[in-house]
Amino acid sequence: MGFSTDAIHAGQHPDPSTNAIIPPIHLTTTFYQEEIGKHKGYVYTRSANPTRDILQKNIAALEKGSYALAFSSGVSAIHALTSTLKAGDHIIVSEDIYGGTFRLFEQVMKNFELSFTFVDSTKVENVEAAVRSETKLVFIETPTNPLLLISDIKAIAEICKEKNLILAVDNTFMTPYFQNPLELGADVVIHSATKYLGGHSDLLGGVLVFNSDELLNKLSFVQKSIGSVLSPFDSWLLLRSVKTLAVRMDRHNYNASKIADFLLNNNSIKKVYYPGLSSHPQYELAKKQMRGFGGIISFELHDFKQVKKFLTNLKIFTLAESLGGVESLVCHPATMTHASIPKERREKLGISDNLVRLSVGIEDLEDLILDIEQALK
Ligand SMILES: *Cc1c(COP(=O)(O)O)cnc(C)c1O
Repeated sequence: MGFSTDAIHAGQHPDPSTNAIIPPIHLTTTFYQEEIGKHKGYVYTRSANPTRDILQKNIAALEKGSYALAFSSGVSAIHALTSTLKAGDHIIVSEDIYGGTFRLFEQVMKNFELSFTFVDSTKVENVEAAVRSETKLVFIETPTNPLLLISDIKAIAEICKEKNLILAVDNTFMTPYFQNPLELGADVVIHSATKYLGGHSDLLGGVLVFNSDELLNKLSFVQKSIGSVLSPFDSWLLLRSVKTLAVRMDRHNYNASKIADFLLNNNSIKKVYYPGLSSHPQYELAKKQMRGFGGIISFELHDFKQVKKFLTNLKIFTLAESLGGVESLVCHPATMTHASIPKERREKLGISDNLVRLSVGIEDLEDLILDIEQALK
């Protein structure tokens, strides 16, 4: 089936008890057992819930995976994945990653004696060089938040296969519409469903997608044990959101490409980061492993005074954390989404105080460009 057909139908059938087209929200914590051990596969909502199950089948189909598990947030999905490891294990991580993932690894999971090596994963040899005998997991984000660096999923997957490591790819920025890491050899795909999958800035959620039965056993056990499940209501809301993913992503991509071109030709801008620009260092790789370039653009202005003015002058782009919603947002990574990364490390990575990140929404392009133009003036 095509992507949108799956997005609208996969996992869903008219409800057998009423023939309702839209799956009901099963707001129940527990389920009747006709006799001991005799039930319909559901006993308690922390273990499984019918609405969450439908959502999980749907997202697994879109990511071309066998299984999906839905969590209460993106970071809780990542937490569950790292909770399948044990003290002493080592993890290799892309150095430019979402600030909350960095905080979870550095300030929480490190206390459980997991160790992390952060590498520039745009160079495959850096990943290979960091492998030790205790390494169990390679965790990459591509494109990265906020610098939009691209790592070669297929090449890294080959190293992981050879060394018997699990490769997890945070696919939040691309969504399954533009990139399918499992098809490129990754073992686990991660989504912050809070972003594009949800798409309307009204729910928090996270998803893991994978093929292996062994991972299904481990991850569903961890999920049930730590309890970070997506609620039935949010599962339903996310199922509804995903139906329009393709049309939203096409429009995010279109608007962002045009805005990136506009920024590139503007004298007030020092540098533009967008994988769809031929000046992007991994442009060729981006074209090879992605089917679109997404809706996030980062750029550098000349000084912090200019940044502050720009942020307060914008009228449609709203200053806020998060991304991927239908409405355009603007963020200052150094003080907002990436504030938990120490300043010295931020500067080394290139997340300067003059960096601004746009989450380009699906409003009319002309209005968005006029807004940026007037704010720069
Ligand atoms: C937001 C985000 C996360 C964390 O997701 P939450 O739903 O906020 O917990 C993880 N990875 C990326 C790339 C993100 O943008």
